[in-house]
Amino acid sequence: METMIEHNGMLAVLYIVASVLFILSLGGLSHPETSRRGNWFGIIGMALAVGATFFHPQVTPQSAGVLIAMLVLGGAIGSVVAAKIAMTAMPQLVAGFHSFVGLAAVCEGINSYVAGMGLAGAEQVIHNTEVFIGVFIGAITFTGSVVAFGKLQGIVRSKPLLLPGRHLINLLAALASLYCGTLFFTAADAAQGMTPLLVMTGFAFFLGWHLVMCIGGADMPVVVSMLNSYSGWAAAATGFLLNNDLLIITGALVGSSGAILSYIMCKAMNRSLISVIFGGFGAQEGKAAAPGAARAGEVVAISVEEVSNLLKEARSVVVIPGYGMAVARAQHPIKEIADKLRTRNANVRFAIHPVAGRLPGHMNVLLAEADVPYDIVMEMDEINPDFPDTDVALVIGANDIVNPGALEDPSSPIYGMPVLETWKAKTTVVLKRSMAAGYAGVDNPLFYKENTRMLFGDAKKSVDAILAQLQ
Ligand code: NDP
Repeated sequence: METMIEHNGMLAVLYIVASVLFILSLGGLSHPETSRRGNWFGIIGMALAVGATFFHPQVTPQSAGVLIAMLVLGGAIGSVVAAKIAMTAMPQLVAGFHSFVGLAAVCEGINSYVAGMGLAGAEQVIHNTEVFIGVFIGAITFTGSVVAFGKLQGIVRSKPLLLPGRHLINLLAALASLYCGTLFFTAADAAQGMTPLLVMTGFAFFLGWHLVMCIGGADMPVVVSMLNSYSGWAAAATGFLLNNDLLIITGALVGSSGAILSYIMCKAMNRSLISVIFGGFGAQEGKAAAPGAARAGEVVAISVEEVSNLLKEARSVVVIPGYGMAVARAQHPIKEIADKLRTRNANVRFAIHPVAGRLPGHMNVLLAEADVPYDIVMEMDEINPDFPDTDVALVIGANDIVNPGALEDPSSPIYGMPVLETWKAKTTVVLKRSMAAGYAGVDNPLFYKENTRMLFGDAKKSVDAILAQLQ
């Protein structure tokens, strides 16, 4: 008895310490300078949280053996995946992890419903509510994340699936889930309640799939952070089921921070959060990408030598990194170019679009890795007014985030999204391999502007060659 109380006390203390560490971790991650510390807080918190499980009163020496075996197996798989994954595939990995959280919530909910069959009265109602909500959110998170994984990996097309009457379909699936809920809560016994619970799970699986299929390419970043939020709420619901305070706190932290991030990204992209939650509400059938529509005028190519001459003469340079810089891993030589130009007294700055790359903060991480000073890394709103006074805008593997069609062409699928207005600079130099479209699959009128020059080739090779010319 005494040992049990000691164990409970130890568990509570470890849970409180882990919760505080998770909060400090989130605080640290909010700024590049403190993000390393934030990561460490998170790692230590998670190690304590996992370790604390062994103090749970229900853990016996036998089940501890199973726990250790699972920890070793899961840890080994996680380590191999983390070591092998390319930086450019991180978003898919995150979406994949969200799907695990969703699936775990579904399995735990159904299992907990079976385990809680002996309950009665208010206790039973509360338990069943936790089961129903946990399974519903978990199922939406699971299929939604699987589709997001497919879209980011390029297995599922990034164009929105705009079925006729899609909002009605979503509404019917939601109403059918609700109807299953009434059958579930009024079931005479648990065996009878299982059928509506499983049917509702099927509808929720469908809803998650359909809601994310309806989202177009450029809106995917918001969906990834929305699914992050959903996975948090699914974890919190599981925490209620398991009576686990730490899981409730952690789930709420993930859920609310994901929701705040989604809101910030929607604001930055001039999109309505409601429209993204309800699967592209307001997106029109005719708004699928129309490649080629913007192909007006000539594309002018430029040589490495000409670019380095332009840079040598420039007083003000803005570098715009995009997904292609991540693919090419060109951040280190581009930082060296910036250093070289700054020693010549040029004003060099980096401009970050909120959805550049494939992950919120993707470009900030890469620039921090290359030791680019934070004070020359600007947000979109800070830098846009400065383009008219810029001599050279150097676009490194970016496409959608510098597409003027987003401001000028109402038929464009990315219309309304604020972009980096590089065409206002004296000269824009775009480094990319071909005329291929970016993630949203739309042609880019920037490439055909009079003051735009295209430097074709892999961004790393081009940047290395420019650096060699500047030496
Ligand atoms: P884009 O996907 O629009 O464009 C990237 C460009 O990089 C391509 O046009 C490609 O052209 C070029 N590229 C690829 N590899 C290389 C290489 N090795 N060297 C040189 N160029 C290369 O990227 P952006 O960053 O401009 O925009 C991000 C897009 O991704 C937006 O549509 C955004 O909504 C979406 N997205 C963002 C997420 C986020 O959280 N940030 C998450 C999910 C989606 P080419 O093949 O000709 O070289």
